[in-house]
Amino acid sequence: MIIMGSNVGNIYSNIVFYGQKVQFTIMIKIENLEKIYRTEEVETLVLNKLSFDVREGEFVAVMGPSGCGKSTLLNILGLLDDMDAGQFKFNDIDVSDYTERKRADLRKHNIGFVFQSFNLIDELTVFENVELPLIYTKVSAAERKERVEEVLKQMQIMHRRNHYPQQLSGGQQQRVAVARAVINKPKLILADEPTGNLDSNNGNDVMQLLTELNQGGTTIIMVTHSEHDAKYSHRIIRMLDGKVVTENLLV
Ligand code: ADP
Ligand code: MG
Repeated sequence: MIIMGSNVGNIYSNIVFYGQKVQFTIMIKIENLEKIYRTEEVETLVLNKLSFDVREGEFVAVMGPSGCGKSTLLNILGLLDDMDAGQFKFNDIDVSDYTERKRADLRKHNIGFVFQSFNLIDELTVFENVELPLIYTKVSAAERKERVEEVLKQMQIMHRRNHYPQQLSGGQQQRVAVARAVINKPKLILADEPTGNLDSNNGNDVMQLLTELNQGGTTIIMVTHSEHDAKYSHRIIRMLDGKVVTENLLV
């Protein structure tokens, strides 16, 4: 890959990519990101001067052995956790020093999460689980109903709208979790081993859903242990001991 051109704000113009000039926008830019976990006795450097960019519209897979810092990274990118050093720009906004309140506001409107263990609320029905982010963003009841039903249809889980998570299969639960992640039309979806608890058929369905969302313009960063799932992405970022070791382009 040949990269030339000028950096105007977060727009990189005049990029030559496989002989063609293209423009793209950087959604995420992290530089020298560090995360340290401290207990009374030990300090663990979990992310060690990590730097990379993610373009708007990309589908990136993050791979690496257990314990290398993938979930920690995803939580920081999702503004769920803070960092100890380095710089993090989201859509050209420096969020490195954002207060929790500002982080939560940015997160609610821009980022959807999908987890390995689904993380649905057992006491709420399918409909209510998917509706919850819309309550946080103060959407009216009438609009909530319309949007939840639309996304439940899209995820082919409408017939289970009044069920509780424990009454569903793993594959169905993950479809509900994806519905919840996309209900606020986020620009970015962060998925942490989204197929890790699913059999291969249900796993492929979830990968298909993520692919369709990406084709609709949503940027996706997905942690996975599966080389098969990683092939759905455009690029693999491989980590080892809190560092990026390689970045492969799959296109
Ligand atoms: P991965 O997702 O790649 O398996 P994690 O990001 O979950 O890795 O964890 C990276 C390292 O940080 C591990 O050594 C883990 O034990 C440690 N770690 C994660 N969360 C905490 C925490 N809250 N307190 C202390 N150490 C943690
Ligand atoms: Mg993890």
